Amino acid sequence: MKRILLKLSGEALAGDKKTGFDEATCIGVAEQVRQLVEKGIQVTVVTGGGNFWRGRTSETIDRVKADQIGMLATVMNCIYVSDIFRHVGMKTEIFTPFTCGAFTTLFSKDAANAALEEGKVIFFAGGTGHPYFSTDTGAVLRAIEIEADAMLLAKAIDGIYDSDPKVNPEAKKYDEISIQEVIDKKLAAVDLTASILCLENKMPMLVFGLNEDNSIVETISGTFTGTKVTV
Ligand code: UDP
Repeated sequence: MKRILLKLSGEALAGDKKTGFDEATCIGVAEQVRQLVEKGIQVTVVTGGGNFWRGRTSETIDRVKADQIGMLATVMNCIYVSDIFRHVGMKTEIFTPFTCGAFTTLFSKDAANAALEEGKVIFFAGGTGHPYFSTDTGAVLRAIEIEADAMLLAKAIDGIYDSDPKVNPEAKKYDEISIQEVIDKKLAAVDLTASILCLENKMPMLVFGLNEDNSIVETISGTFTGTKVTV
Protein backbone atom coordinates (compact mmCIF):
# COMPACT_ATOMS: atom_id res chain seq x y z
CA MET A 1 0.00 0.00 0.00
CA LYS A 2 1.31 3.43 -0.97
CA ARG A 3 -1.30 5.77 0.44
CA ILE A 4 -3.70 5.15 3.30
CA LEU A 5 -6.31 6.98 5.32
CA LEU A 6 -6.28 6.18 9.04
CA LYS A 7 -9.51 6.90 10.89
CA LEU A 8 -9.11 7.21 14.65
CA SER A 9 -12.32 7.25 16.66
CA GLY A 10 -12.65 10.02 19.23
CA GLU A 11 -13.16 7.48 22.02
CA ALA A 12 -9.96 5.70 21.03
CA LEU A 13 -8.02 8.96 21.55
CA ALA A 14 -9.41 9.25 25.06
CA GLY A 15 -8.18 5.79 26.12
CA ASP A 16 -9.73 4.66 29.41
CA LYS A 17 -10.63 8.24 30.32
CA LYS A 18 -13.56 8.20 27.80
CA THR A 19 -13.25 11.98 27.32
CA GLY A 20 -10.46 14.37 26.30
CA PHE A 21 -7.08 12.93 25.33
CA ASP A 22 -4.98 10.09 26.62
CA GLU A 23 -1.48 11.28 25.80
CA ALA A 24 0.18 7.86 26.06
CA THR A 25 -2.36 6.40 23.58
CA CYS A 26 -1.77 9.25 21.14
CA ILE A 27 2.04 8.95 21.42
CA GLY A 28 1.67 5.20 20.77
CA VAL A 29 -0.33 5.93 17.61
CA ALA A 30 2.23 8.52 16.49
CA GLU A 31 5.13 6.11 16.94
CA GLN A 32 3.37 3.48 14.84
CA VAL A 33 2.51 5.97 12.10
CA ARG A 34 6.16 7.10 12.05
CA GLN A 35 7.15 3.52 11.19
CA LEU A 36 4.75 3.57 8.23
CA VAL A 37 6.11 6.93 7.04
CA GLU A 38 9.67 5.57 7.31
CA LYS A 39 8.58 2.72 5.00
CA GLY A 40 7.54 5.35 2.43
CA ILE A 41 3.78 5.05 2.98
CA GLN A 42 1.81 8.28 2.62
CA VAL A 43 -0.45 8.60 5.65
CA THR A 44 -3.56 10.72 6.00
CA VAL A 45 -5.56 10.86 9.22
CA VAL A 46 -9.14 11.59 10.23
CA THR A 47 -10.15 11.76 13.88
CA GLY A 48 -13.66 11.50 15.26
CA GLY A 49 -15.00 13.94 17.82
CA GLY A 50 -16.88 11.74 20.25
CA ASN A 51 -14.32 12.31 23.04
CA PHE A 52 -15.68 15.88 23.24
CA TRP A 53 -19.07 16.18 21.62
CA ARG A 54 -21.51 14.57 19.22
CA GLY A 55 -24.31 16.32 17.36
CA ARG A 56 -26.78 14.09 19.14
CA THR A 57 -25.30 15.01 22.58
CA SER A 58 -27.91 17.72 23.05
CA GLU A 59 -31.64 17.36 22.58
CA THR A 60 -32.12 21.03 23.40
CA ILE A 61 -30.12 22.95 20.83
CA ASP A 62 -30.65 22.92 17.08
CA ARG A 63 -29.07 19.88 15.36
CA VAL A 64 -27.21 22.03 12.84
CA LYS A 65 -25.55 24.01 15.65
CA ALA A 66 -24.84 20.84 17.60
CA ASP A 67 -23.16 19.33 14.54
CA GLN A 68 -21.08 22.47 14.07
CA ILE A 69 -19.75 21.99 17.61
CA GLY A 70 -19.00 18.35 16.70
CA MET A 71 -17.05 19.39 13.62
CA LEU A 72 -15.06 21.89 15.69
CA ALA A 73 -14.33 19.09 18.19
CA THR A 74 -12.66 17.15 15.38
CA VAL A 75 -10.53 20.23 14.61
CA MET A 76 -9.38 20.35 18.24
CA ASN A 77 -8.56 16.63 18.06
CA CYS A 78 -6.53 17.06 14.88
CA ILE A 79 -4.58 20.02 16.31
CA TYR A 80 -3.72 17.92 19.36
CA VAL A 81 -2.88 14.67 17.57
CA SER A 82 -0.91 16.39 14.80
CA ASP A 83 1.24 18.11 17.39
CA ILE A 84 1.89 14.78 19.11
CA PHE A 85 2.96 13.50 15.66
CA ARG A 86 5.38 16.44 15.38
CA HIS A 87 6.68 15.66 18.85
CA VAL A 88 7.75 12.20 17.65
CA GLY A 89 9.44 13.66 14.55
CA MET A 90 6.91 13.86 11.70
CA LYS A 91 5.92 16.86 9.59
CA THR A 92 2.18 17.50 9.53
CA GLU A 93 -0.50 19.71 8.03
CA ILE A 94 -4.19 19.99 8.91
CA PHE A 95 -6.84 20.56 6.24
CA THR A 96 -10.42 21.64 6.88
CA PRO A 97 -13.37 22.03 4.48
CA PHE A 98 -14.04 25.50 5.97
CA THR A 99 -11.64 28.30 6.89
CA CYS A 100 -10.24 28.20 10.41
CA GLY A 101 -8.02 31.26 10.00
CA ALA A 102 -4.39 30.50 10.69
CA PHE A 103 -5.16 27.20 12.44
CA THR A 104 -5.60 25.00 9.36
CA THR A 105 -5.33 24.97 5.56
CA LEU A 106 -8.45 24.96 3.39
CA PHE A 107 -8.78 21.48 1.81
CA SER A 108 -8.23 20.89 -1.87
CA LYS A 109 -7.04 17.71 -3.53
CA ASP A 110 -4.08 19.52 -5.08
CA ALA A 111 -2.95 21.05 -1.78
CA ALA A 112 -3.33 17.68 -0.03
CA ASN A 113 -1.30 15.93 -2.74
CA ALA A 114 1.41 18.59 -2.54
CA ALA A 115 1.68 18.18 1.25
CA LEU A 116 1.90 14.38 0.91
CA GLU A 117 4.65 14.72 -1.70
CA GLU A 118 6.56 16.88 0.82
CA GLY A 119 6.49 13.90 3.18
CA LYS A 120 3.92 15.34 5.56
CA VAL A 121 1.30 13.33 7.39
CA ILE A 122 -1.92 15.17 6.68
CA PHE A 123 -5.03 15.49 8.81
CA PHE A 124 -8.53 16.03 7.48
CA ALA A 125 -10.39 17.86 10.26
CA GLY A 126 -13.94 19.20 10.33
CA GLY A 127 -15.57 16.18 8.68
CA THR A 128 -17.42 16.98 5.47
CA GLY A 129 -18.09 20.53 6.67
CA HIS A 130 -21.82 19.79 6.71
CA PRO A 131 -24.25 18.81 9.45
CA TYR A 132 -26.05 15.45 9.44
CA PHE A 133 -22.84 13.68 8.37
CA SER A 134 -20.25 11.83 10.43
CA THR A 135 -16.48 11.74 10.41
CA ASP A 136 -16.80 8.17 9.03
CA THR A 137 -18.44 9.65 5.96
CA GLY A 138 -15.90 12.49 5.84
CA ALA A 139 -13.10 9.92 6.07
CA VAL A 140 -14.44 7.75 3.21
CA LEU A 141 -15.01 10.87 1.09
CA ARG A 142 -11.43 12.06 1.56
CA ALA A 143 -10.02 8.55 1.07
CA ILE A 144 -11.81 8.42 -2.31
CA GLU A 145 -10.82 11.96 -3.29
CA ILE A 146 -7.12 11.48 -2.58
CA GLU A 147 -7.23 7.97 -4.13
CA ALA A 148 -6.08 6.12 -1.02
CA ASP A 149 -5.46 2.38 -1.41
CA ALA A 150 -7.54 1.61 1.68
CA MET A 151 -9.12 3.10 4.75
CA LEU A 152 -7.83 1.82 8.09
CA LEU A 153 -10.46 2.05 10.80
CA ALA A 154 -8.89 1.98 14.27
CA LYS A 155 -11.65 1.39 16.78
CA ALA A 156 -12.19 0.66 20.44
CA ILE A 157 -13.27 -2.88 19.29
CA ASP A 158 -10.94 -5.22 17.36
CA GLY A 159 -13.04 -5.89 14.25
CA ILE A 160 -16.55 -6.43 12.95
CA TYR A 161 -18.74 -8.96 14.81
CA ASP A 162 -22.03 -10.58 13.87
CA SER A 163 -23.51 -9.15 17.08
CA ASP A 164 -22.30 -6.89 19.90
CA PRO A 165 -19.67 -8.88 21.87
CA LYS A 166 -20.33 -6.75 24.95
CA VAL A 167 -23.90 -8.08 24.97
CA ASN A 168 -23.44 -11.51 23.34
CA PRO A 169 -20.41 -13.54 24.54
CA GLU A 170 -20.97 -15.92 21.57
CA ALA A 171 -20.50 -13.07 19.04
CA LYS A 172 -18.32 -14.11 16.09
CA LYS A 173 -15.69 -11.84 14.54
CA TYR A 174 -15.43 -11.75 10.75
CA ASP A 175 -11.95 -12.10 9.21
CA GLU A 176 -13.34 -10.85 5.92
CA ILE A 177 -16.73 -9.54 4.85
CA SER A 178 -18.04 -7.61 1.84
CA ILE A 179 -19.33 -4.08 2.28
CA GLN A 180 -22.64 -5.24 0.75
CA GLU A 181 -23.00 -7.77 3.58
CA VAL A 182 -22.11 -5.11 6.17
CA ILE A 183 -24.96 -3.01 4.74
CA ASP A 184 -27.44 -5.90 4.43
CA LYS A 185 -26.79 -7.17 7.95
CA LYS A 186 -26.70 -3.64 9.40
CA LEU A 187 -23.38 -4.39 11.13
CA ALA A 188 -22.05 -1.44 13.10
CA ALA A 189 -18.76 -0.92 11.27
CA VAL A 190 -19.33 2.52 9.79
CA ASP A 191 -22.62 4.34 9.36
CA LEU A 192 -24.82 3.65 6.36
CA THR A 193 -23.91 6.82 4.42
CA ALA A 194 -20.21 5.96 4.74
CA SER A 195 -20.85 2.31 3.79
CA ILE A 196 -22.71 3.31 0.62
CA LEU A 197 -19.88 5.66 -0.37
CA CYS A 198 -17.41 2.78 0.12
CA LEU A 199 -19.58 0.48 -1.98
CA GLU A 200 -20.16 2.92 -4.83
CA ASN A 201 -16.54 3.98 -5.05
CA LYS A 202 -14.89 0.66 -4.21
CA MET A 203 -12.94 1.80 -1.15
CA PRO A 204 -11.83 -1.23 0.91
CA MET A 205 -11.57 -0.98 4.70
CA LEU A 206 -9.46 -2.67 7.33
CA VAL A 207 -11.12 -2.58 10.75
CA PHE A 208 -9.04 -3.29 13.85
CA GLY A 209 -8.62 -2.42 17.53
CA LEU A 210 -6.46 0.56 18.41
CA ASN A 211 -5.77 -0.97 21.84
CA GLU A 212 -4.19 -4.11 20.37
CA ASP A 213 -0.36 -3.91 20.49
CA ASN A 214 1.20 -2.45 17.35
CA SER A 215 -2.07 -2.92 15.45
CA ILE A 216 -1.60 -0.07 12.94
CA VAL A 217 1.81 -1.36 11.81
CA GLU A 218 0.60 -4.97 11.72
CA THR A 219 -2.36 -4.02 9.57
CA ILE A 220 0.05 -2.85 6.90
CA SER A 221 2.72 -5.52 7.37
CA GLY A 222 0.32 -8.40 6.70
CA THR A 223 -0.14 -9.86 10.17
CA PHE A 224 -3.61 -8.39 10.31
CA THR A 225 -6.04 -9.79 12.87
CA GLY A 226 -9.01 -7.44 12.40
CA THR A 227 -11.74 -7.56 9.75
CA LYS A 228 -11.07 -6.89 6.07
CA VAL A 229 -14.04 -5.26 4.34
CA THR A 230 -13.97 -6.04 0.61
CA VAL A 231 -15.70 -4.07 -2.14
N1 UDP B 1 -20.04 16.06 12.28
C1 UDP B 1 -20.83 16.68 11.31
N2 UDP B 1 -20.48 16.55 9.99
C2 UDP B 1 -19.41 15.84 9.56
C3 UDP B 1 -18.61 15.19 10.55
C4 UDP B 1 -18.95 15.32 11.90
O1 UDP B 1 -21.81 17.34 11.63
O2 UDP B 1 -19.15 15.78 8.35
C5 UDP B 1 -20.35 16.27 13.72
C6 UDP B 1 -21.49 15.41 14.23
O3 UDP B 1 -22.18 16.20 15.17
C7 UDP B 1 -20.79 14.28 14.96
C8 UDP B 1 -19.58 15.00 15.54
O4 UDP B 1 -19.23 15.95 14.52
O5 UDP B 1 -21.58 13.72 15.97
C9 UDP B 1 -18.40 14.14 15.86
O6 UDP B 1 -18.07 13.33 14.78
P1 UDP B 1 -18.02 11.72 14.90
O7 UDP B 1 -18.10 11.17 13.55
O8 UDP B 1 -16.90 11.35 15.79
O9 UDP B 1 -19.34 11.44 15.69
P2 UDP B 1 -20.18 10.13 15.84
O10 UDP B 1 -20.15 9.38 14.53
O11 UDP B 1 -19.53 9.37 16.93
O12 UDP B 1 -21.51 10.73 16.18
